[in-house]
Amino acid sequence: KELPADPIMENSRRQVEKACFSYATPKQTANPSMVHVSPEMANELGFSKGDTQSEEFLKIFTGNKVIDGTTPYAMCYGGHQFGNWAGQLGDGRAINLTEIEHNGKHWALQLKGAGETPYSRTADGLAVLRSSIREYLCSEAMYHLGVPTTRALSLALTGDQVLRDVLYNGNAAYEKGAVVSRIAPSFLRFGNYQIFAAREDTATMRTLVDYTIKHFFPELGEPSKDTYAQFFQAVADATLEMLVHWQRVGFVHGVMNTDNLSILGLTIDYGPYGWLEGYDHGWTPNTTDRQHSRYRYGNQPNIGLWNLYQLANAIFPLVEEAEPLENVLEGFKTKFEEKYLVMMKSKIGLYEKDDLDQQLINDLEENLQLTETDMTLFFRNLADIKKDAGNVDSFLKIVGEAFYAPDEVKGEVLDKWALWFTTYQNRLKKETLADAERKAKMNAVNPKYVLRNYMAQLAIDEADKGDYALIDLLFVLLKKPYDEQPENEKWFAKRPDWARNKVGCSM
Ligand code: AMP
Ligand code: MG
Ligand code: MG
Repeated sequence: KELPADPIMENSRRQVEKACFSYATPKQTANPSMVHVSPEMANELGFSKGDTQSEEFLKIFTGNKVIDGTTPYAMCYGGHQFGNWAGQLGDGRAINLTEIEHNGKHWALQLKGAGETPYSRTADGLAVLRSSIREYLCSEAMYHLGVPTTRALSLALTGDQVLRDVLYNGNAAYEKGAVVSRIAPSFLRFGNYQIFAAREDTATMRTLVDYTIKHFFPELGEPSKDTYAQFFQAVADATLEMLVHWQRVGFVHGVMNTDNLSILGLTIDYGPYGWLEGYDHGWTPNTTDRQHSRYRYGNQPNIGLWNLYQLANAIFPLVEEAEPLENVLEGFKTKFEEKYLVMMKSKIGLYEKDDLDQQLINDLEENLQLTETDMTLFFRNLADIKKDAGNVDSFLKIVGEAFYAPDEVKGEVLDKWALWFTTYQNRLKKETLADAERKAKMNAVNPKYVLRNYMAQLAIDEADKGDYALIDLLFVLLKKPYDEQPENEKWFAKRPDWARNKVGCSM
């Protein structure tokens, strides 16, 4: 005990210095059972159906068996949480099993909820069924929506009970323990680099950045000051791309701390995330963030940039000059505005150029917030408007089911909508596509089905009672989010009244 701990081998909770990871063995569980396997992810990894139904698969993906010849590990990272530097965090309840290559793709396999690691701090390293269902369903749904994301291979029960403070009633209670196997090319986060900057350990950070470039940005070539700046540009671009997608589908991450931002621009860490129902720039699903709403929908792009500033600070010692990093950061805003405009135009079916488009989008965003208006229903139904037919009344009818309080759409609110629809229809005339073609293109960017918070909650409630049918139904539904699915029309509807203000929580 007098000797300094081996940064990699020593397995107690502690500050881990001069190492990017520590070995950690998943916990044995009481009575593991598989709840769901993603056939698409299994296929990507080269697992047959027989494989995924085997005892061995169950054991490996609940942490009860370590694959021969592998050494599972937890990663060291730090992060800014809600704007403040929080020091070392690390994989407190995630354990990386191994990495595999299949069909020319490289994948890291990770268990979430498989027990404590040197980074667990005061928590138990475990996960409950509730949060695991939310991560499992949402990450695969995001993939099928075309949003860059970490994936999920399996959802399993451990057979253990886990004690949790249930946020919505404040009482501690036992819940079913669960493990999700998460898959991504890499789980590296901004915080993985920040931790070494904070410790002034430039050597280890350089090793990690070089590793990242070699494996994930090989097109950048051999490490040099220039390469490091280009690396930062690539990360900024990937982050920006991801954020535009989030805004497009109405996804609110809820905890955009720098430890929850992937270096590859993947959506990572599905905790208190939520989906916009009423379109509202101020909405956040994170109940612990309600006061400042730092992580509200409309602020996600700003926070993405804020996080990039932190990453720039971290890797500055490698780039040695501020200017190349500043250029990237300064370019972010303009680039985002450009891409956001194109994206929003695509949501309303505009592809030609018109100087008034920005104003048209601004006005729409304002109108959508005049009274509570369901984002998904609105954009999906908007595709039914005809270039050369209809009037304000018929347009309002087309999008009408999106209004949560249709009675409030009167007076000034009604006037604003009338003006918008008239302007919009005039603008549509500039488009060369026929109505049907425009509708098909709009439907390809405006999902019909997203994982509304209450849908996940219903699946959780049934799963708690041992019934996984709704998990499977939602999983299958969300594989084709842009398709018409007449048998599933009931999920294309406003959030029911009972589900208002109910949000999932992350623990
Ligand atoms: P998050 O807010 O989920 O991004 O987590 C922040 C930090 O807390 C990360 O280092 C997590 O690994 C850690 N953490 C969250 N939940 C647990 C848990 N149940 N046990 C151990 N560490 C946890
Ligand atoms: Mg996290
Ligand atoms: Mg989390």
